[in-house]
Amino acid sequence: MHNLMQDWPLRVGSILDHAARYHANRPVISRSVEGPITRTTWTDIHLGARRCTQALRRLGVQPGDVVGVMAWNTARHLEVWYGVPGAGAVLHTLNPRLFAEQMTYVINHAGDSVLMVDPDLVPIIEGIADRLEKIRHIIVLTDRAHMPETTLDMLCYEELVAAEDGDTAWHMGDERDACGICYTSGTTGNPKGVVYTHRSNVIHALSSQSPDMLGLGAADTVMPVVPLFHANGWSIGYTAPLAGASIVMPGRDMTPPAIYEMLEQGVTLTAAVPTVWLGLLGWLRENPEKRFSTLKRVVIGGSSCPRAVIETFQDTYGVQVLHAWGMTEMSPLGTVCSFKPEVAALPDDKRLDVQETVGHPPYTVELKITDDAGNRLPEDGAAQGRLWCRGPAIVGEYLHMGEKAHDADGWFDTGDVATIDPNGYVRITDRSKDVIKSGGEWISSIDLENVAVGHPDVAEAAAIGVPHPKWDERPVLVVVPTPGTEPDKQAILDLVATRFAKWQVPDDVLFVEELPHTATGKISKLTLRQQLNERGYA
Ligand code: ADP
Repeated sequence: MHNLMQDWPLRVGSILDHAARYHANRPVISRSVEGPITRTTWTDIHLGARRCTQALRRLGVQPGDVVGVMAWNTARHLEVWYGVPGAGAVLHTLNPRLFAEQMTYVINHAGDSVLMVDPDLVPIIEGIADRLEKIRHIIVLTDRAHMPETTLDMLCYEELVAAEDGDTAWHMGDERDACGICYTSGTTGNPKGVVYTHRSNVIHALSSQSPDMLGLGAADTVMPVVPLFHANGWSIGYTAPLAGASIVMPGRDMTPPAIYEMLEQGVTLTAAVPTVWLGLLGWLRENPEKRFSTLKRVVIGGSSCPRAVIETFQDTYGVQVLHAWGMTEMSPLGTVCSFKPEVAALPDDKRLDVQETVGHPPYTVELKITDDAGNRLPEDGAAQGRLWCRGPAIVGEYLHMGEKAHDADGWFDTGDVATIDPNGYVRITDRSKDVIKSGGEWISSIDLENVAVGHPDVAEAAAIGVPHPKWDERPVLVVVPTPGTEPDKQAILDLVATRFAKWQVPDDVLFVEELPHTATGKISKLTLRQQLNERGYA
């Protein structure tokens, strides 16, 4: 007997249909690009998205066309998030922080034929317009009054959608059709395009919404501080309406007071990379009268979350940290550190040790660790190896690369090095290319960095291996001091020595004004090594 159930295609439009039908009046609060904070509902976003679909069709956009979107987290961006795939087109999120060459490359490589762009980002497009190969229309995401001066031919989004009535249906194609494209930032070589399907996005949203992952429900108000253009927006553009949660879109202003103001709009769960939270917690320290009136949980991932951040959120503000790991290639969620009963039962400090891991995977993500020869390693919490993953929302092939991104059994090499403990909790110790190997033993650069930033005079730290005649490599810490401090080298090393064996403690601490970062805000160790090389160090 075969398939007697309904073939209900898993397409993302059905997520917004659900929110508009069963969670119609949940607020969508947004800091708009025009300035004011706006308040609408899922019903309004649903109507706006369908008008967007109609407007794109009127411009000649066909199913399968690629539409590039460069925008901050706003309610309008949510309309477009559904309006583009609603027309059967593929939504290519663009990170405005890419260098001009990379921006040109990804727009041409993906074959974008329409660009939708926030008004303040128009200069980025002007700077590369003559190198864009297929663009037919550029739409500015604002109203007529806020259209920027430009030498290019640009359309006004609000004018386009005002001409539509929203009385239309989403394009109905196969659930395996392309839905979105997100490029990895590419620290070496060109960025690589990951193409999500409708099906992979729906499956991923279902699993990331589940209780041990984001644990979202209709009683929640979610604020993605993480931009929608980072790693599929951590899927929150899908999980929030799927759960019927309210959403708060923080807009462009990423300063701590602005983030705090938006968190105070009733937010119960928020998500961003550690640097955002380091900034906010620093500001809160200077403004001790400020507390969170509704915030309960914060998802922190994208790079390792320092223990001090977890402790401060939980002990000072009563906000639970969900340390998470993932990749653009994984849609992006890989693991979340929620508490299984064995962990919930631990005393506070031991549970905090577990929270330095990135937790365990949901159904739909399988993980394993291996040695360099590909032999599976024990999951005993001690053996470190290459971390591999497979599942229905994990990359199969990069765009236009023409070869599988995984091995014959479907395993994708994450490029991360990790341990997995008997409860399935994963500890990311390094990226494989950043591993420090001293005397044949690995030293975790992530652990070194996390302990170093626990020192109040250390704003940011990077641990790298420098060549050594006897030990092959020795760790060195590169530190950006907290403004207004003059950190003492030995004090930092003494702090590290409280958590590491003597041979693992770095040989030196170098102070720099700033560290090089990638477009997604991660420390670029490649550039850092080059810089130290030029200074005759590494
Ligand atoms: P990009 O590579 O474009 O910066 P990704 O989001 O795809 O963006 O980066 C994924 C990588 O980020 C992972 O392979 C891992 O190295 C790192 N990462 C993500 N979350 C964590 C975490 N919680 N701890 C340590 N590393 C993390």
